[in-house]
Amino acid sequence: MARVNNFSAGPAVLPEPVLAQVRDELLDWHGCGMSVMEMSHRGKEFMAIQAEAEADLRALMGIPANYKVLFLQGGASLQFSMLPLNLLPVGGKADYVLTGSWAKKAAAEAKRYGTVNIAASSAETNFNRIPVQSELKLDPAAAYVHVTGNNTIFGTEYHYTPDTGSVPLVSDASSHILSRPVDVSRYGLIYAGAQKNVGPAGLTLVIVRDDLIGHCRDGAPTMLDYAIHAENDSAYNTPPTFAIYVSGLVFKHLLAQGGLPAVERANVEKADLLYGLLDRSGFYNCPTEPASRSRMNVPFTLANAELDAPFLAEAKQAGLVQLKGHRSVGGMRASLYNAMPLAGVQALVDFMIDFERRHG
Ligand SMILES: *Cc1c(COP(=O)(O)O)cnc(C)c1O
Repeated sequence: MARVNNFSAGPAVLPEPVLAQVRDELLDWHGCGMSVMEMSHRGKEFMAIQAEAEADLRALMGIPANYKVLFLQGGASLQFSMLPLNLLPVGGKADYVLTGSWAKKAAAEAKRYGTVNIAASSAETNFNRIPVQSELKLDPAAAYVHVTGNNTIFGTEYHYTPDTGSVPLVSDASSHILSRPVDVSRYGLIYAGAQKNVGPAGLTLVIVRDDLIGHCRDGAPTMLDYAIHAENDSAYNTPPTFAIYVSGLVFKHLLAQGGLPAVERANVEKADLLYGLLDRSGFYNCPTEPASRSRMNVPFTLANAELDAPFLAEAKQAGLVQLKGHRSVGGMRASLYNAMPLAGVQALVDFMIDFERRHG
């Protein structure tokens, strides 16, 4: 068996011990003679799996008791609609900070339901930075302020928690949830598709403060009402059982590593290793402003775009895959999610130094 170093932006690398455990338990979960995939979501086995996943996620993130954890479907993209349907009253307005493609999509969806105020934007510099607090033109009458905590495509990340006063702060944390400690009490709602830094595609996590539940607008589909999912312990309909199970194993794995402070230390070390090379090199260039750089997604370009294809081909030969950048940025992108080991980043850096020596 030869596992590659997978730098995919998502679906992405998962911790190898978790995959091995899934394999070992696949045909017969804990002696019950069936796979988790084959179990009733209302049976006591699966209900225990889900309850344990929720308890472990609460422990990892320190989620206060007045927040619900919802295990939903539809991806982060459905949250772009579900959020305004639940939090934006008819005739209401919301603040959005535009920091990339996903933020634009979120704002565009909210516009269908109310007035969207662009509180700040880094579009002028091709989204290479995160606006600072003093740039945010916040409306005290907004129903909420929406930020994209980590910008998967452009490779930027908030390194501060915006102060929004009494207006609830909402973050799309899809590509950096569980990568660092977070003070959940500073947020009204956090959502994340699981397939970047948590588990398999198909699960969407929503962490929402109790008082924001129960205000879904009339006429919205039942399935898009947070209250329905909260009242039914995320089992109003069939939840994505297998993805919840695997994500639960990831939560346990992160707790065993020492929780999010330890995870953050490892992520800082990995990111510093790659950014260090990019900053020293005259051959590679990183487009993002240093103070806004993402620890999870690192875009970079080569001195000569004609070298992109050979770079990707040779990297693949060296077992370093999924490095092609997003089409809206070009060049390369290395995603360094929690499950990417330091050795994988070291192998990438060694390859890049060697490639520069041969082609620079
Ligand atoms: C991937 C991603 C999305 C879209 O997620 P889906 O689960 O595919 O809908 C939204 N926001 C961010 C920040 C992402 O990285």
